[in-house]
Amino acid sequence: MTDDSLRITEIFYSLQGEARTLGRPTVFVRLTGCPLRCHYCDSEYAFHGGERMTLASILEQVAGYQPQYICVTGGEPLAQPNCLPLLTQLCDAGYSVSLETSGAMPLDEADTRVSRVMDLKTPDSGELDKNRWENIPLLQPHDQVKFVLCSRGDYEWAKFKLDEYRLAERVDDVLFSPSFGQLEPRQLADWIVEDNLPVRFQIQIHKLLWGDAPGY
Ligand code: SF4
Repeated sequence: MTDDSLRITEIFYSLQGEARTLGRPTVFVRLTGCPLRCHYCDSEYAFHGGERMTLASILEQVAGYQPQYICVTGGEPLAQPNCLPLLTQLCDAGYSVSLETSGAMPLDEADTRVSRVMDLKTPDSGELDKNRWENIPLLQPHDQVKFVLCSRGDYEWAKFKLDEYRLAERVDDVLFSPSFGQLEPRQLADWIVEDNLPVRFQIQIHKLLWGDAPGY
């Protein structure tokens, strides 16, 4: 096995379903494996299996789509150390790159040209103790912080963290997203407006368009 390879669950071209580039045609590179087990996880199929690919072959497959936007996701992409050179090589190739990360892995070596979309895991995710709070000072304005909210309790917790860490001043987008099937989107939208929060409400449009199927 070469030491410049990654275990990959899938590479596909679709519309970005969330975050700042929502609606943009994007290549998704989904890395296999995650050390967390969030209750609401919608990508459990990426926990195991996958196929070993060299960085060169990943770059080649990505280039075949002639994309502008690339999203490196998982699983937890940073759980594989070779994710770091992949991010750098994608940036070097001129793509606009985002990284979806759980917030449980160190961000300090991830290429700062990448827009890091970092989760903060809420109490009802079941993975609260995995949050790596020392990542917060490493965030740059073009990074994004995402809360997936399951309940009113999660919402109150996220509001507190928003204020405690001045998140809206650190990054351009703090994303509040309802956990699919657990918190009514309309309810969350109403709370955000009532509280006049400096966050961006989002729902995952790929699930509206294509359901919960892999590959979209
Ligand atoms: S961090 Fe993401 S991939 Fe891992 S268990 Fe949680 S939701 Fe699933």
